[in-house]
Amino acid sequence: MFGILKKIFGTAQSRALKKYAKLVPLVNEWEVKFQPLTEEELRQKTLEFKERLKKGESLESLLPEAFAAVKNVCRKMCGTEVNVSGYTQNWDMIPYDVQILGGIAMFHGTIAEMQTGEGKTLTASMPLYLHALTGKPVHLVTVNDYLAKRDCEWIGSIFRKLGLTVAYLTNDVPPYQRKEVYASDIVYGTASEFGFDYLRDNSMAMRKTEQAQRGFYFAMVDEIDSILIDEARTPLIISGPVAESRQMYDELKENISSLVRAQRDLCNRLATDARRDLETLNLLEETAEKKKLTKAELETRNEAFQQLWLVSKGMPRHKTLKRLKENPDLRAEIDKWETYYFGEANKAEKADKLAELYMTVDERQNEYELTDKGILAWNTDKGQTVGQDDFVMLDLGAEYAIVDADTSLNEQQKMQAKVQLRDEDARRKERAHNLRQMLRAHLLMEKDVDYIVADGKIVIIDENTGRPQPGRRFSDGLHQAIEAKEEVEIQGETQTYATITLQNYFRMYDRIAGMTGTAMTEASEFLGIYQLKVLEIPTYRRCQRRDFDDEIYMTEREKYNGILKEIHSIHAQGRPILIGTESVEVSEKLSRILRQEKLEHTVLNAKNHVKEAEIIAEAGKKGAITLATNMAGRGTDIKLKPGVSELGGLHVIGTTRHSSRRIDRQFRLRSGRLEDPGSSKLFISFQGSLMRRFASPRMTSLLQRFRQPEGEPISAKVLNKSIETAQKRIEQRNYAMRKHTLEYDDVMNNQRKEVYAFRNDLLHAENVGQIAEEMLQTAAYQTVASQVGPEGKELNAEACKTALMKQFPIRFEDELFKQEPHELETKAAEWVIAAFQKKLMVQKQLISMYRPDLAEGDRLHSILQEVLRNLMTRRADHLWQEHLLAIDHLRSDVHMRTVGQKDPLLEFKHESFGLFQAFSEKMKLEIAQDLFRFEMRPQQPPPMSEKLQQLASKTPDEA
Ligand code: ADP
Ligand code: MG
Repeated sequence: MFGILKKIFGTAQSRALKKYAKLVPLVNEWEVKFQPLTEEELRQKTLEFKERLKKGESLESLLPEAFAAVKNVCRKMCGTEVNVSGYTQNWDMIPYDVQILGGIAMFHGTIAEMQTGEGKTLTASMPLYLHALTGKPVHLVTVNDYLAKRDCEWIGSIFRKLGLTVAYLTNDVPPYQRKEVYASDIVYGTASEFGFDYLRDNSMAMRKTEQAQRGFYFAMVDEIDSILIDEARTPLIISGPVAESRQMYDELKENISSLVRAQRDLCNRLATDARRDLETLNLLEETAEKKKLTKAELETRNEAFQQLWLVSKGMPRHKTLKRLKENPDLRAEIDKWETYYFGEANKAEKADKLAELYMTVDERQNEYELTDKGILAWNTDKGQTVGQDDFVMLDLGAEYAIVDADTSLNEQQKMQAKVQLRDEDARRKERAHNLRQMLRAHLLMEKDVDYIVADGKIVIIDENTGRPQPGRRFSDGLHQAIEAKEEVEIQGETQTYATITLQNYFRMYDRIAGMTGTAMTEASEFLGIYQLKVLEIPTYRRCQRRDFDDEIYMTEREKYNGILKEIHSIHAQGRPILIGTESVEVSEKLSRILRQEKLEHTVLNAKNHVKEAEIIAEAGKKGAITLATNMAGRGTDIKLKPGVSELGGLHVIGTTRHSSRRIDRQFRLRSGRLEDPGSSKLFISFQGSLMRRFASPRMTSLLQRFRQPEGEPISAKVLNKSIETAQKRIEQRNYAMRKHTLEYDDVMNNQRKEVYAFRNDLLHAENVGQIAEEMLQTAAYQTVASQVGPEGKELNAEACKTALMKQFPIRFEDELFKQEPHELETKAAEWVIAAFQKKLMVQKQLISMYRPDLAEGDRLHSILQEVLRNLMTRRADHLWQEHLLAIDHLRSDVHMRTVGQKDPLLEFKHESFGLFQAFSEKMKLEIAQDLFRFEMRPQQPPPMSEKLQQLASKTPDEA
């Protein structure tokens, strides 16, 4: 086996591997020594290791023995049965050397790239065990609930045998049990369960005992690319309805629709005219004899192609355009105009041409822009607020200056005028923002591709899995904009109560490690964002899979015929086939075709993980045909059933290329696990979205060159390369989007940490009274400071007194104000605190008068503690939510400023910092007020229920 390990030495990334590989024999030597131990003696090892750690030994020096203990327990379990998800399984696993190697790499905080079927689940057990010896929280993160439970039951038996506790965290674990789950040495769960628990613990728990988690030490992330890359684009959000909504989608929607309609009518006309002209010139039929055109005819022809080019700028998905582009000759002619206008010399002419449109749409950049014509049409047609330009924002600075210069206004009127201006500014910005989002909804979001309409609701379709994502919403008002577009009820604006990106959640752990079959393509992102290195672990046996070149077709129809031909020919050999689709819709379509062909098959739609796992485990049977969305059953491997290897193993067919190379690879890896034979092939058409968005004119000319008769695939290595380039471009764009989300969240991360830390202090403090006094002190300082002149010296005693009395409901003696400002600060604070202590005393007396039973021992004290804790936590939460709402608004505001050449992120950083300072001051002042405001009253007897009243009014006889 070491032969395999040897061959990888020498490459650049293998230096680390070489170092780790030296430890493998050490682990094995220890394991041999452990073999004579009884189970009980082995279990004692755990205690011994823990002791040695306490005495100062490092985890690293314990590694060989700890890993050996895991390996030995596996050996001892062989032949026994374990219960996994309701089935009994025979334990038959002892870690291979490559798995020990992978485990060592994971221990050192790298991402181990190990192919599907290599046994990552078992591999992870070794670093998990070692880290859990510290007694600190160790979490294994999986992609779905099914796997969390399965792996916990399966691999968990190792930990239980070694005397550690292990538990799983699935969506159906009720809140009151979660604390117990987290108390285990090792917890298996999904990223969102862990993340939401963190948010709940820090934004909803009102006392220490309600907090479930106990910290973040080591996270081992399974299928790490899926979790940190695919899922990382949408942050975790706890939200609720907003008190007062600013949105105006309803009032805008009709006018937006009519503007978009104007553009559609225009493009329809252009396309129909062009098509008719080309038809008359007999240019549409591919086979038609090309006759020589007259000069006038040539001109008509050129104009027609130019018009089609214009349609491609205004409505890239126009049906007629799409159909004409199936013909490579016509496609090339249209692309010629693209090349022509790309030239610097033709810029002005291009602008003139584009000015005929109302807006231009760029699918590649995922952007659109209104032309002057569009802006004019909007501003004149909208039939309201005549003369107002929705695309020009107020210059608040200048407007304020005008108000200030107006001598006819007194101070109060000036203030009023400014408040009005500010409100008007906010209204206009919101309107412009709504407008932009609605245009985006119309021009760039496609029904049944990006979302579906179900039961009067807009449901997002996950780009990677093709799964509908009920409950999730597009952010930043886009969801509402789509609701307006599709004429369904527009849901109220929601407000964020708590939010975090998965990236920032995982950054809280002292150590992270990961494993997946596919991480290499995103290695630089892992390093850049998480400081995680990717290490390719050699396979146990040589991979036997054969990846065929893609089959590329002009049209979807031809592509499906090609796929069908492939299925027939492979199926005839008896080999099992797995067909991966990009969406549920495509799965269903293919299923219909297969039914017509009388081919028996199973469809897997990624709706039910448990069933999914069962079905996919059957996909390795002789003659099986399984249809699945790309990611369905990820994490469950397909074992070949008897007789299948001899036939050539599993064949996987991809019905498209995904926008990320990693996901294509993940899919191919489904076949050829361990030393199994197998093969894979992907089918693509030029009508697919990848090609539509990213095929270059160069590709069109290649197409013309390698053109095949109808129905034949084009196979050319060059094309494969171009397709990869297109994928890389999308990957980069998606990376930029994730970075963008993260950059904004980073700003919030520090604020969130600070607030959560304060909140945790409140929840955990033995004596909250002390925090209360600190709040009062700061509030007193702040109030005095607000009355001191810029020199730090002069002080208006009267004003200061008023301010203090406004803030605190107590009397301040005049003597106090005869001192220097900094002395006054201290004295005022002492004064306030003394008054507060007195108030607490009075409260205690009052209560013990009414409820003598509470006066015993320190019960009264702890009740008071809880009251103070609650009061401060509530106020902090409330203001924090307000702050988050302000931040939401700021985020959309700053994007409006890109017009002024300003960097929105910088603006955002700057202003959110200011907002946070204001929040933090306000919080102290308001908490200080609350502390004087609360009143503990003896409880009134509860009102009698109606029934009791009736009973009470009746005489004993009647009753
Ligand atoms: P991965 O997550 O890497 O795709 P899994 O952890 O799901 O792979 O394991 C794949 C299969 O390999 C499982 O059925 C498991 O039983 C088997 N396996 C893993 N390690 C071993 C081993 N050391 N000996 C025998 N079988 C193993
Ligand atoms: Mg796995």
